[in-house]
Amino acid sequence: MAVLQIRRHGDRVLTARVEPVGDVTDEILTLLDDMIDTMRNGETPGVGLAAPQVAKALSIIVAEPPPDHEGTDAVYNGAIVLLNPEIVYATGHTIIEEGCLSCRGVTAEVERPSHVVIKGLDRDGNAVKLEVEGALARIFQHEVDHLHGRFFFDHLNPIRRQLVKARIRRT
Ligand SMILES: [Zn+2]
Repeated sequence: MAVLQIRRHGDRVLTARVEPVGDVTDEILTLLDDMIDTMRNGETPGVGLAAPQVAKALSIIVAEPPPDHEGTDAVYNGAIVLLNPEIVYATGHTIIEEGCLSCRGVTAEVERPSHVVIKGLDRDGNAVKLEVEGALARIFQHEVDHLHGRFFFDHLNPIRRQLVKARIRRT
């Protein structure tokens, strides 16, 4: 495992088109290990990470399950790993404060659906579908956004969005 460098807002890889994962090669497995290591042991630990944040334009997310998370689908090394994730259903709404490892120094209260159904492939390439709410639903939405070049502040109204973007630290 290795801690990878987190790319910051403004880096073009964060808005590049991601490729779906085909075969789960040794290279992909190493990347998954490194993404989990980076999420947990990086300069600023986080609860989720998307591959573009470590300069890989691939459709992969990892997330730290909350302590009350039930079920073992897609769990590897204590983290949830999803390849080619897609949110297929979302309902409800909730406001939660979000930050981002790629946008240092800023957080904002963001309104999003409270429940989601996400499908994708697990680390072994098997199809999985997870129905989640609360913190994990929020993490999944935030990380899947990264696969589409979107940031949490893109959900704010234009005035608040500009205020948040202006405060992102460059160093
Ligand atoms: Zn983020």
